[in-house]
Amino acid sequence: MTDTVTRKHQNSDVLRTTRLLRQVGLRSTRQRLTLGALLFEGEDRHVTAELLHAEAAAIGHHVSLATVYNTLHQFKRAGLLRELAINGAKAYFDTNTSNHNHFFFESEGELRDIPANSIRVDGVPEPPEGTDIRHIDVVVRVVKKVR
Ligand SMILES: [Zn+2]
Repeated sequence: MTDTVTRKHQNSDVLRTTRLLRQVGLRSTRQRLTLGALLFEGEDRHVTAELLHAEAAAIGHHVSLATVYNTLHQFKRAGLLRELAINGAKAYFDTNTSNHNHFFFESEGELRDIPANSIRVDGVPEPPEGTDIRHIDVVVRVVKKVR
């Protein structure tokens, strides 16, 4: 999981994004291609709108934070991102849309995937009548050890 702003995104690097957008029926606008390239052209990532906004600015693409929010939510509705509510106020978007859980580094505000099946939840209550449990979100909050 890399969250660096140093990766360069040239026009030739948006092939995967172009294909993804086409698959979900979203038009390939410049904004979607630029933000999509930051999200989808590398390894899976966890980003906030603020982080993505800063990364776009760092590569010379100046869009408003509201546009970044809108685009993230369009991607989410299209199934390209999963939204994770960690602290209530701040939403994180995950390019890995599979069911998985997370470590949350409280001081850095960063997420890291927990490998699938490495968490076993015991004593889960019966779900309400007529429902099935789809997923149990587990966020393991961690802090650096004080030495
Ligand atoms: Zn994740």
